Amino acid sequence: MSWIGDFIWKRLPWSLRQAECTHFAEAVHIDAGEAEGCEECLKMGGEWVHLRRCMVCGKVGCCDNSPNVHATRHFEETGHPVARSIEPGESWGWCFPDKVMTPDVEVLRK
Ligand SMILES: [Zn+2]
Ligand SMILES: [Zn+2]
Ligand SMILES: [Zn+2]
Repeated sequence: MSWIGDFIWKRLPWSLRQAECTHFAEAVHIDAGEAEGCEECLKMGGEWVHLRRCMVCGKVGCCDNSPNVHATRHFEETGHPVARSIEPGESWGWCFPDKVMTPDVEVLRK
Protein backbone atom coordinates (compact mmCIF):
# COMPACT_ATOMS: atom_id res chain seq x y z
CA MET A 1 0.00 0.00 0.00
CA SER A 2 1.27 3.50 -0.82
CA TRP A 3 2.02 5.83 2.05
CA ILE A 4 -1.01 7.99 1.23
CA GLY A 5 -3.21 4.90 1.16
CA ASP A 6 -1.77 3.87 4.49
CA PHE A 7 -2.34 7.38 5.85
CA ILE A 8 -6.04 7.31 4.93
CA TRP A 9 -6.46 3.69 5.99
CA LYS A 10 -5.27 4.36 9.54
CA ARG A 11 -7.84 7.13 9.92
CA LEU A 12 -10.87 5.15 8.80
CA PRO A 13 -13.24 4.06 11.57
CA TRP A 14 -12.55 0.54 12.70
CA SER A 15 -15.96 -0.73 11.52
CA LEU A 16 -15.10 0.23 7.93
CA ARG A 17 -11.66 -1.35 8.02
CA GLN A 18 -12.97 -4.45 9.75
CA ALA A 19 -15.07 -5.21 6.68
CA GLU A 20 -11.81 -5.75 4.77
CA CYS A 21 -10.29 -8.02 7.39
CA THR A 22 -11.31 -11.67 7.41
CA HIS A 23 -8.47 -12.83 9.67
CA PHE A 24 -10.31 -12.54 12.98
CA ALA A 25 -13.22 -14.56 11.63
CA GLU A 26 -10.76 -17.38 10.78
CA ALA A 27 -8.90 -17.25 14.09
CA VAL A 28 -9.12 -20.18 16.48
CA HIS A 29 -7.59 -19.16 19.80
CA ILE A 30 -9.98 -16.77 21.51
CA ASP A 31 -9.24 -17.63 25.15
CA ALA A 32 -6.61 -15.56 26.91
CA GLY A 33 -5.57 -18.66 28.87
CA GLU A 34 -2.76 -18.91 31.39
CA ALA A 35 0.71 -17.71 30.43
CA GLU A 36 3.92 -17.59 32.44
CA GLY A 37 5.37 -15.00 30.12
CA CYS A 38 6.69 -14.52 26.61
CA GLU A 39 7.80 -17.98 25.44
CA GLU A 40 10.86 -16.72 23.58
CA CYS A 41 11.90 -14.30 26.35
CA LEU A 42 11.67 -17.10 28.92
CA LYS A 43 14.02 -19.20 26.74
CA MET A 44 16.56 -16.44 26.20
CA GLY A 45 16.25 -14.71 29.55
CA GLY A 46 14.74 -11.57 28.04
CA GLU A 47 12.25 -9.16 29.54
CA TRP A 48 8.83 -8.20 28.27
CA VAL A 49 6.31 -5.43 28.91
CA HIS A 50 2.94 -6.81 27.79
CA LEU A 51 1.87 -10.20 26.49
CA ARG A 52 0.03 -11.08 23.29
CA ARG A 53 -1.25 -14.49 22.19
CA CYS A 54 -1.23 -15.59 18.55
CA MET A 55 -4.84 -16.37 17.64
CA VAL A 56 -3.78 -19.00 15.10
CA CYS A 57 -1.42 -21.28 17.06
CA GLY A 58 -1.76 -19.89 20.60
CA LYS A 59 1.90 -18.87 20.99
CA VAL A 60 2.54 -16.18 23.59
CA GLY A 61 4.81 -13.30 22.56
CA CYS A 62 5.72 -9.86 23.81
CA CYS A 63 4.35 -6.52 22.60
CA ASP A 64 5.98 -3.79 20.52
CA ASN A 65 7.02 -1.92 23.67
CA SER A 66 9.12 -4.92 24.66
CA PRO A 67 12.78 -5.00 23.55
CA ASN A 68 12.43 -8.22 21.57
CA VAL A 69 8.96 -7.63 19.99
CA HIS A 70 8.32 -11.38 19.78
CA ALA A 71 4.62 -11.06 18.86
CA THR A 72 5.49 -9.08 15.71
CA ARG A 73 8.43 -11.39 14.96
CA HIS A 74 6.12 -14.38 15.26
CA PHE A 75 3.89 -12.83 12.57
CA GLU A 76 6.91 -12.13 10.35
CA GLU A 77 8.21 -15.68 10.73
CA THR A 78 4.95 -17.62 10.48
CA GLY A 79 2.48 -15.32 8.71
CA HIS A 80 -0.03 -15.90 11.52
CA PRO A 81 -2.01 -12.67 11.09
CA VAL A 82 -3.88 -12.02 14.34
CA ALA A 83 -2.93 -11.75 18.00
CA ARG A 84 -4.89 -10.76 21.09
CA SER A 85 -3.89 -9.09 24.31
CA ILE A 86 -3.77 -11.41 27.29
CA GLU A 87 -3.25 -8.64 29.81
CA PRO A 88 -5.81 -8.87 32.64
CA GLY A 89 -9.13 -7.37 31.58
CA GLU A 90 -8.04 -6.82 27.97
CA SER A 91 -9.59 -8.65 25.04
CA TRP A 92 -8.65 -6.51 22.05
CA GLY A 93 -7.04 -8.07 19.02
CA TRP A 94 -4.64 -6.83 16.34
CA CYS A 95 -4.40 -7.87 12.70
CA PHE A 96 -0.80 -7.41 11.50
CA PRO A 97 -1.33 -7.43 7.71
CA ASP A 98 -4.41 -5.17 7.79
CA LYS A 99 -3.23 -3.03 10.74
CA VAL A 100 -6.70 -3.33 12.25
CA MET A 101 -7.49 -3.41 15.93
CA THR A 102 -10.68 -5.09 17.03
CA PRO A 103 -11.91 -3.87 20.41
CA ASP A 104 -13.10 -7.26 21.67
CA VAL A 105 -12.17 -10.68 20.28
CA GLU A 106 -14.57 -12.32 22.75
CA VAL A 107 -17.45 -11.34 20.46
CA LEU A 108 -16.03 -13.81 17.89
CA ARG A 109 -16.81 -16.71 20.20
CA LYS A 110 -19.56 -18.82 18.69
ZN1 LIG B 1 -6.85 -8.97 8.75
ZN1 LIG C 1 9.51 -11.82 24.07
ZN1 LIG D 1 1.05 -18.35 15.66
